[in-house]
Amino acid sequence: MKTMDVIQTKKEDQQYVLHSWSKQKNIHPKVITKAEGIFFWDDENRKYYDMCSQLVYLNVGHQHPKLLEEFKHMDEIPIAAPSFATPSKSELARKIIEVAPDNMAKVFFANGGADSNDHAIKIARMVTGRYKIFSRYRSYHGATFGAGNLTGENRRFAVEPGMPGFIKFDTPYLYRESINFENEEAAAKFYLDRLHNQMLYEGPESIAAVFLEPIPGSNGVLIPPKGYLEGVRELCDRYGILMVCDEVMSGFGRTGKMFAVDHFNFQPDMMTFAKGVTSGYSPLGGVIVSRKVAEFFDDHVLMTGLTYSGHTVSTQIGCATLDIYKEEGLIENAYEVGEVLGARLEKLRAFNSVGDVRHIGLFAAVELVRDKKTKEPIISYGMDYGKDEAGLMKTFIHLLNEKGFYTYSHESSVIIAPPLIITEQQINEAMDLFEEALTKFEKEHLFSAGTLVTK
Ligand code: PLP
Repeated sequence: MKTMDVIQTKKEDQQYVLHSWSKQKNIHPKVITKAEGIFFWDDENRKYYDMCSQLVYLNVGHQHPKLLEEFKHMDEIPIAAPSFATPSKSELARKIIEVAPDNMAKVFFANGGADSNDHAIKIARMVTGRYKIFSRYRSYHGATFGAGNLTGENRRFAVEPGMPGFIKFDTPYLYRESINFENEEAAAKFYLDRLHNQMLYEGPESIAAVFLEPIPGSNGVLIPPKGYLEGVRELCDRYGILMVCDEVMSGFGRTGKMFAVDHFNFQPDMMTFAKGVTSGYSPLGGVIVSRKVAEFFDDHVLMTGLTYSGHTVSTQIGCATLDIYKEEGLIENAYEVGEVLGARLEKLRAFNSVGDVRHIGLFAAVELVRDKKTKEPIISYGMDYGKDEAGLMKTFIHLLNEKGFYTYSHESSVIIAPPLIITEQQINEAMDLFEEALTKFEKEHLFSAGTLVTK
């Protein structure tokens, strides 16, 4: 790594850099001075288990030797505009189609997650000739205008008043549903009936697409009840609506399968991706489209594009990343070690402040509550961003960081999504730290002799 002057880096950051989603005067970013595998070190030489893979993208871990080597060969490859065919763009598109559901045929490359969703919105409108777009509350699809309009929580508010024709429906969230369903199938039916009703009242003939994260990530790893996604597919088929799955966070092994949709029994019409495709070593996103959608554009103009579509550097890194997944068996590892993580998380239910744990592969959330019976959350909705009430959740994240467990939270859920290279032993070490932090949190900030003493 380039030698750096930490003091200078921090000073210039403070002076010149605007940081996302934050009041600038409240933040004092650390500098990562060293990193390797699942670990990184800050400028005070504190070592961290990176338990959220930075922003859930560093699937192959920090400083992977094969990717570092790949960067050394960049002088051998041509930088070319999207209108050219390049070896790395062709190869990566093929590699993605090879691991995608078998109805998928082609890839449109974009720069990251948000703009991939924007392109998918446009494609859905072009293919169907319709304009309405359904997406869900408790979802995050990105910060650009299109993806922001898809987003179903307060990170959308900065793009409001929104675009006409964007309709929201509920994500199944069984832990906080007031109805006690007999089983998962009954829950799925309940949410599907409501969605169907909304479609009817919006006029199905005007609906171009339903966008959803098959397993919403940053909103707390909300695993759908059995039959739900298949039911959404069935409703889409009934009315000629396209189903678009946002796999930006869940794709490329995060859930223990290549894509989250692989856990279920349906195929979407389009899938958007980013993050894991390059493990974040270079920015890249895209839209994977089905044969049917691809064929539509044989005779219709694809009225979208961008300067860096299929950028040579990023697609080259993407090819190497997909090779690493295969060579190192990382998807299988995510599944196997995910079982160990799952078992440790289930044990957390014994803590008074743990309301719910949700996990699939190496994609997990721990939802904290002030009171287990009433399920009163640690912070109420919308208090994450720069508002003082976020304090208690921030306190817990700070305690985790102090122990060397690095991650972030959204509302009252702590996200746990380590690099897919993590070992069973490392999971256990990290979860020991989590338990220590939680014990301290409950004792010093939440409960005293069984009584709530929230500060
Ligand atoms: N979609 C999902 C599901 C995401 O989790 C994210 C980012 O976290 C995005 C889209 C936006 O991706 P990007 O930040 O690369 O624009």
